[in-house]
Amino acid sequence: MELDGRALAERIRAREAPRLEALRRQGIHPSLLSIEVGENPSSESYLRGQRRGAEAWGIEYRMQRLPASSTEDDVRDALAEAAADARVTGILLQCPLPSGLSARALQHEIPPHKDVEGVHPENLGTVVHGRPRLAPCTAMAVMELVASSGLALQGCEAVVVGHSEIVGKPVALLLLAQDATTTVCHKFTKDLASHTRRADLLVVAVGKARLVTADMVKPGAVVVDVGINAVRDPKDPAKTVIVGDVDTAALLAKGCAVSPVPGGVGPVTVAMLLRNTLVAAERAYSDPEAETPPLFPDL
Ligand code: NAD
Repeated sequence: MELDGRALAERIRAREAPRLEALRRQGIHPSLLSIEVGENPSSESYLRGQRRGAEAWGIEYRMQRLPASSTEDDVRDALAEAAADARVTGILLQCPLPSGLSARALQHEIPPHKDVEGVHPENLGTVVHGRPRLAPCTAMAVMELVASSGLALQGCEAVVVGHSEIVGKPVALLLLAQDATTTVCHKFTKDLASHTRRADLLVVAVGKARLVTADMVKPGAVVVDVGINAVRDPKDPAKTVIVGDVDTAALLAKGCAVSPVPGGVGPVTVAMLLRNTLVAAERAYSDPEAETPPLFPDL
């Protein structure tokens, strides 16, 4: 079975629509500002998704492109301006940044209540505490896809391959918060297959095409493929196609539930960004210390 991310993103939009309506009734208009430094081809599809998604949800969206030659201070100034602008309720700094600019240092400049990508240490801290406010969008997208599969997480064997700060680590923390028995693997893990074969839930976030083959996965496992890799198109070697980190067709043939690439994690990540934009707008006009309702009430 395929875990259809596009259909799920649409369901999330419908689920969240009343929140946007409630904000509008109070005269609050969520507005997302996406700042890109230079032009990075690998960001194109995410930026396109943001714009289309915001249009479909009815959220105001603006893209600000700074020159590739910008210094860290230039980016800091742009972030400070957006932070002070009451009309901007959510800020996103598009990564990767040109070399020489520290993403981590600059992301800390975004006020936590406008940090719609959930990358500020204060927001990451709420993930550690198991009470996420604005959590990293891709990690939340993984959790939404898992929920859509119907897998019960309590006590299940979950294996996460990849330990980056925006995907692998927060996914592991969110899984632990749901009481899954969680193992994290990475590039120094010995005998990766011995871990992945045990998994009822396998999340792969590496960036290596076909890293996970059918012999590495238990029949019937739920597999969420986060990877994005441009590889030569087998039908036309002059072109490239986008694939994930797992051998999707072989895993589907083994009875696994797999999120496809494209059309899996990507669209749900955009939906989570827009959901975070609503949460940020709500918080901007309410008690900033108030608890946000649980992210995954159905689990
Ligand atoms: P990253 O480069 O920061 O981290 C890669 C991780 O993979 C590291 O933890 C590393 O230790 C691990 N790794 C590398 N080689 C390995 C190996 N042979 N075996 C096991 N682990 C190995 O990457 P990231 O930012 O976490 O992104 C991972 C992938 O997910 C990339 O392809 C990226 O494009 C994609 N991604 C997709 C979305 C989306 O919305 N669909 C969002 C973010 C990232």
